[in-house]
Amino acid sequence: LASRSFKKEDTVIKVRENIFIGGNQFVVMAGPCSIESFENTEEIARAVKASGASILRGGAFKPRTSPYAFQGMGLEGLKIMREDADKYDLAVVSEIMSEDMIEAFEPYVDIYQLGARNMQNFHLLKQLGARTKKPILLKRGLSSTIEEWLMSAEYIMASGNENVILCERGIRTFEKYTRNTLDISAVLAVKELSHLPVIIDPSHAAGKYSMIEKLSMASYAVGADGLIVEVHPDPEHALSDGAQSLKLEKFDHMMQELTKLSKVL
Ligand code: PEP
Ligand code: MN
Repeated sequence: LASRSFKKEDTVIKVRENIFIGGNQFVVMAGPCSIESFENTEEIARAVKASGASILRGGAFKPRTSPYAFQGMGLEGLKIMREDADKYDLAVVSEIMSEDMIEAFEPYVDIYQLGARNMQNFHLLKQLGARTKKPILLKRGLSSTIEEWLMSAEYIMASGNENVILCERGIRTFEKYTRNTLDISAVLAVKELSHLPVIIDPSHAAGKYSMIEKLSMASYAVGADGLIVEVHPDPEHALSDGAQSLKLEKFDHMMQELTKLSKVL
């Protein structure tokens, strides 16, 4: 179902009125790594909307490496996100970690995020495919091949939901300078092998805020359908992933550079 040989034309996924992923648009999802409070989320939502993002990202259920690290605000975080996103007319994308939460997520999210660590949680893939019609943002696993990633998309699609958006977020290599190695050619590989849209997450790939703007421009140039980027007004005090989060002004600058690029190309 996911393969280009099965369907020739590019799939365009409707998130809601006026927000489509795939085709000619370049969609930007932005927000904090973790939802921290109503006020913090509101400040971010207002800023990213003004800079041109159309979807608010944010984690309420966090897959943290350490069990002692901040685990997210849970359902309360999802409610905050929905309210702040509605205020600024943004759609919502947030990560789900367990099938028990599918119905609880449904009123709050426009896109379900399936995180890198769960890319091969086949039970969760099947349950999401069967129990929601909303789009699913499928992140590439930390050490997964492109074929394995597309097979995970296939699980969701074969279970009944064909609205899958792929997300390249960097993979593990021997290189330690960046958090992960952004596999930019994965976009080209996906475009050859599949009709599904593919976006890039430069934040989790680089792990460093200083690299985000240029990697975003490279994502546009290589033909990705959009970006998901971490943004925070005070990264030094962010509850997670501050080192890779852009300050609001830096995000705005990045969006201006992307707009210039789109006029040149
Ligand atoms: C995230 O987007 O906050 C996240 C945890 O990403 P990944 O699953 O790519 O590590
Ligand atoms: Mn993060």
